[in-house]
Amino acid sequence: MKKLKNYLVVGAGLFGATFAYEAAKRGNRVKVIEKRNHLAGNIYTKEVDGIQVHQYGAHIFHTSNKKIWNYVQQFAEFNRYTNSPIANYQGEIYNLPFNMNTFNKLWGVVTPQEALAKINQQRAVLKGKRPENLEEQAISLVGTDIYQKLIKGYTEKQWGRPATELPAFIIRRLPVRLTYDNNYFNDLYQGIPIGGYTQIVEKMLASDLITVETQTDFFDQQAEYLKNYDRIVFTGMIDQYFAYRYGELEYRSLQFETEELDQGNYQGNAVVNYTDAATPYTRIIEHKHFEFGKGDKEKTVITREYPKTWQRGDEPYYPVNNAKNNALYKKYKELADQEAKKVIFGGRLGQYRYYNMDQVIGAALVTVAKEFE
Ligand code: FAD
Ligand code: UDP
Repeated sequence: MKKLKNYLVVGAGLFGATFAYEAAKRGNRVKVIEKRNHLAGNIYTKEVDGIQVHQYGAHIFHTSNKKIWNYVQQFAEFNRYTNSPIANYQGEIYNLPFNMNTFNKLWGVVTPQEALAKINQQRAVLKGKRPENLEEQAISLVGTDIYQKLIKGYTEKQWGRPATELPAFIIRRLPVRLTYDNNYFNDLYQGIPIGGYTQIVEKMLASDLITVETQTDFFDQQAEYLKNYDRIVFTGMIDQYFAYRYGELEYRSLQFETEELDQGNYQGNAVVNYTDAATPYTRIIEHKHFEFGKGDKEKTVITREYPKTWQRGDEPYYPVNNAKNNALYKKYKELADQEAKKVIFGGRLGQYRYYNMDQVIGAALVTVAKEFE
């Protein structure tokens, strides 16, 4: 048996909550501090007109890891939602991810062979070059037409820089299929928690051994926290923890504009991407469609998502994992390793990684195994 410890968890997001839950399950005392005025970090949802509103953008849980799928079901029951966003390019509608429905609408092709021939013909512009950035990777996957209509504008708005300056891995997140299948993910398991995401974190933090304090910023009392706790799990920004000693890591921020409308159905789908360069937002979410039209029949809630440059004080939603930032992160990681006896860095911001929810739970469980087993 390991000696019981007093833990401080900084951040009540999914990483911090998973760690706190597992630590308390093993008899340890945990204090969780959170600078926002609510739990659950970016997966926070709240009910409006009987609809669960995803306050920080659309969140669809998907994983191929059965252990993580079973794990998360302890805290919520999931519905059968399958993400099938559509793209609106100057009023033309296309299915996502890139699949036979997209190719048929765009080129009139009917068979997978015809679609492949078209893609091969268009990717010839690369002259066999190995894709080194997002633009080349996209053209290599789906050709120049789709790149121009469905990728370039959206990507450059989202990331605020030319697609030639972005890493190829970002576009490899999306499936490309020669089947008529509009499921955005390839994963075996997928759904949205019935009753929203916030309950997951609430249940994780419900133990008598856990105390939670919101509206509390670690940096207001950093020295005291370091003195008073045996171990600290830090899920905020790793560069901020080290007072930006080597300079700032880059993040991408977002502005969400949420509106309640007096109509039952605004856009007929949960997620519509606006893939042209001129529309200032990247997507509109209509929250009730995550729950198959639940809630008030006469009302709906929509959110427009505007990407923006991150500046100190903004929410850092996305790490920008290009070569420059990854190299800088490595230097911060070396500092973090020197503090490993006292502080564990975790989550999207603590590990500066473009993690999905299942990966965050997975990473937290790896940390738990190292800490307790
Ligand atoms: P966070 O949720 O960011 O939690 C960190 C917490 O720490 C925050 O609450 C923050 O306020 C707090 N904090 C930071 N600094 C301090 C401090 N100094 N003192 C106190 N508290 C502090 N994943 C999917 O699997 N599917 C999706 O569909 C999906 N969609 C997404 C859409 C958007 C727009 C975004 C931004 C992300 C999406 N994700 C999705 C990713 C998902 O949100 C993350 O994987 C997950 O929420 C990360 O959890 P975390 O605990 O690492 O970070
Ligand atoms: N993307 C695109 N057009 C779309 C949707 C996505 O070009 O209609 C690109 C864009 O670069 C985006 C990346 O694919 O950043 C990954 O998309 P995903 O939906 O996984 O982004 P997230 O949900 O994480 O914002």
